[in-house]
Amino acid sequence: MTIPVETVPLQLLAEECRVQGLESLAVIEPPARLDPQGLERLLSDGVGDMEWLAERAEMRLTPTALLPSARSIVAVALAYHPHGHDGALKRARYAAGSDYHNLLRRKLARVGDAINRRMGAVWEHRAVVDSAPLNERTIARLAGLGWIGRNALLISPETGSYRFLGFLLSEAPIERRDGGLAADRCGSCTSCERRCPTAALVDRRVISERCISYLTIEHRGVIPRALAERFEGWWFGCDLCQEACPWNRFAPPAGDPKLVGGDVDAVLLAVTAESFDRVFAGRAVRRIGYERFRRNLLVALFSLGSRDAALPILTEALPLVQEQARELGWL
Ligand code: SF4
Ligand code: SF4
Repeated sequence: MTIPVETVPLQLLAEECRVQGLESLAVIEPPARLDPQGLERLLSDGVGDMEWLAERAEMRLTPTALLPSARSIVAVALAYHPHGHDGALKRARYAAGSDYHNLLRRKLARVGDAINRRMGAVWEHRAVVDSAPLNERTIARLAGLGWIGRNALLISPETGSYRFLGFLLSEAPIERRDGGLAADRCGSCTSCERRCPTAALVDRRVISERCISYLTIEHRGVIPRALAERFEGWWFGCDLCQEACPWNRFAPPAGDPKLVGGDVDAVLLAVTAESFDRVFAGRAVRRIGYERFRRNLLVALFSLGSRDAALPILTEALPLVQEQARELGWL
């Protein structure tokens, strides 16, 4: 295989990213090994049911393990739907439309293919979107896409934090665009910490076991009543620490129409075991399965004091839901 030696111009890369609706572009040389401090702290804080985080910890710190011949890492962001909710039941904005994993991975793969096509090359590339053990936030920060805020999210001074991150590891020698470490612009603001209803933000990190996002998406068991009381109607994820962030005033519209969508409370409550897969086809919600979906609705309704709306859930013979109802004192 003959590998062309010319450097891929940034302009060419930017054009192809734009075609795919991607923004916040950076290109860096793959670092040999990332600083383990953040990951070590996360693991020592406890990751609950996210044991997969610990399983391939070393690989997360070694970006080139995913493509040893990589000469460039392209970091991009894809804005998701910044609009909130119309009903009392609330779901994280990122889960409004299609599951972003496949969508963003396909976009990145198309960028890699387009580079090859335009440069007449056959460089190998690998798109990574939450799909491989890569410490993504750290790389995005190294590439200058933003700073890690007090809400533990990567924040861009131009577009805030309502965005997905994706990476393309490529053998292509792409012109660098490395913003360098972005300055921390949280300043004296503590809005996110004060807004978090479960006090899950401590010292710039998220205590998973207290976070509504973790509890509704990753946690497989019963949600403690003391936390459930504070859910404020969230049934899948939580955006409160992002809603509180002043930098999200600048959030752009979604970068792809497939990321736009909405859920109607009455429709959510009418979902059955039979219709669950169909209703949530192609969406992140489907990953939690029907039983956890019903547990989450029960907890969300409990936090809103809506016992009447929860009656059909309480009579369902689902072990996790029954156990959750007993924890809440509703059975
Ligand atoms: S997602 Fe919600 S519960 Fe988790 S840290 Fe942010 S505000 Fe707190
Ligand atoms: S709300 Fe304030 S403290 Fe929290 S991440 Fe945004 S700017 Fe930083």
